[in-house]
Amino acid sequence: MEEQCIFCSIVEGKIPAAIIHEDDVGLAFLDITPATKGHTVLISKEHYEDIFSVPSEKLEKLIVFAKGLMEHIKEKLSAQGFNMESFIGSASGSMIKHFSFHLIPRYDDDGQERPFATRMKFGSKEELTKYLEETAEKITE
Ligand SMILES: [Zn+2]
Repeated sequence: MEEQCIFCSIVEGKIPAAIIHEDDVGLAFLDITPATKGHTVLISKEHYEDIFSVPSEKLEKLIVFAKGLMEHIKEKLSAQGFNMESFIGSASGSMIKHFSFHLIPRYDDDGQERPFATRMKFGSKEELTKYLEETAEKITE
């Protein structure tokens, strides 16, 4: 574990949390600044900085964990949808350098924006087409 990592402290029981589920690789607890009712943070039990450092076999387990948890939350809280977020790198607004998935239940009347509130703007259809072609090419080359 890393010095003073809040999520590691939750795993170790040094900081209390409203834990709703755990297994050998993951731990899920309610966010203390929830965006909606049931906003859950799923973390790896071991300290990994972000998705890139989580070994693939553990990541698979964590995604299956997330899916099961969302099914459960959907049923128990009558959620009508979810947003799943992972903050990766400082540009994302990442505050805690420990891998997490935020599972945010959505309700038709939750009053929250549908992410993202704003989108990239293009001056014309041609600019959009250029962006799509160039970016797809760059990613796939
Ligand atoms: Zn940690």
